[in-house]
Amino acid sequence: MECQNCRQDGYKQKMRETTDQFSYKECGLNNVFLKNWQGLVCPRCSLSVPSFLPNAELASCLIAREVLLSGAVLNGNQILFLRKLMKLSPAESASLLGVDLDYFDCIEADKAVLKKVDEVKLKTIISGYVVLSLNRVDDITSRVSGCSGCLVAVYRLASCTLDGKIFVYMKVC
Ligand SMILES: [Zn+2]
Repeated sequence: MECQNCRQDGYKQKMRETTDQFSYKECGLNNVFLKNWQGLVCPRCSLSVPSFLPNAELASCLIAREVLLSGAVLNGNQILFLRKLMKLSPAESASLLGVDLDYFDCIEADKAVLKKVDEVKLKTIISGYVVLSLNRVDDITSRVSGCSGCLVAVYRLASCTLDGKIFVYMKVC
């Protein structure tokens, strides 16, 4: 694949395969990274892009689990991420929590903080959703076969949190 960045400067530069850490902003949170992930890097401008993105629904459920396990107070962006994961509108979320929509909008915009009791309620609803989804989704993401066709390795998507960063990676199982 040719580097898009270099192409804009009028260079034709082929990208090289790499295994690296990539930001996974596509998920909606800024602190999520794809770890030991296959990708391409440009030898000229160092632009790097992951070769593939994880199953978005599964990755989001794993990320949501990390967010919940961290035990930290949810910020507006995390609440937005969790609401989207559950495919709820702001009005539906506000009504589930029994709060008004204006207040809920302020919370997502970080202009107000969710009351402790509402946060517990929200985390309970999300935990239920995440557990059900993780049980339902077939999380075997990739199978690697040997030359005779026998199964050599099965990879599952996994996640962990380190220093406030959430990592998504492929784990051999
Ligand atoms: Zn480049």
